[in-house]
Amino acid sequence: MCNEIEASTRCDTEKQIENLKKDIYNSPKHVFGDHSSCDSYFCNNHKDDEENYVPEMIECGLMDDLQSCGARLLHNAHSLMLNMTNNAAETYNSVVSKFVGGKRQNFSIKNSYSTRCQAASLSYNKKEPYYNSVHKAVTLRSPGKFTKSYMARLSQSREKRKVRRQLFRTKKQMKSAPPDADYGMIDENEMPIEIEEAKEKFIASLTLSKAEITELEKSTRGPFSNPI
Ligand SMILES: [Zn+2]
Repeated sequence: MCNEIEASTRCDTEKQIENLKKDIYNSPKHVFGDHSSCDSYFCNNHKDDEENYVPEMIECGLMDDLQSCGARLLHNAHSLMLNMTNNAAETYNSVVSKFVGGKRQNFSIKNSYSTRCQAASLSYNKKEPYYNSVHKAVTLRSPGKFTKSYMARLSQSREKRKVRRQLFRTKKQMKSAPPDADYGMIDENEMPIEIEEAKEKFIASLTLSKAEITELEKSTRGPFSNPI
């Protein structure tokens, strides 16, 4: 019974994903006046006198370009349908970076790194301090008074910080660092003459006549169908 329900739910989801893919693929046509492939749930009150620009767009290759923009959405339709994000992974990684202290020390020997990752996963999964449950699982007893007072101190300071933040809700302005000579700071006025000449030469090599531009546009038309 359970398997039947699971199979039918999976089947429904797969159908929904297929429909979503179809709608994403069809949406440029719908926007530009071709409703021949639209489903009833997708569009049902388009105007009869609406002009259909799609044949012209297919002719000049613009439709191919538009559909290639949606290709990434099309390939990831399953994660869109299931509302999947990588937020949980990102949050977990930020907790791990707190436990391993960034790159200050090398924790990769003697399993230190993996132990710290496990501690981070406990901290991430348990909303309250996790020491209590770890202590109980390992020693089969509740933690002693020092651990308990440490945990109480932690939660007290967390509460205080929360209240303080609510009192002073000012956003800190982050100042961006100025350009750095070691990281690609380029002052165009100080560009060496050789680079200036090379730039001019390169730009000149790209210059085409009107006929050549038309020929190039035709030969590179259509990202999907073009063999180039
Ligand atoms: Zn439509």
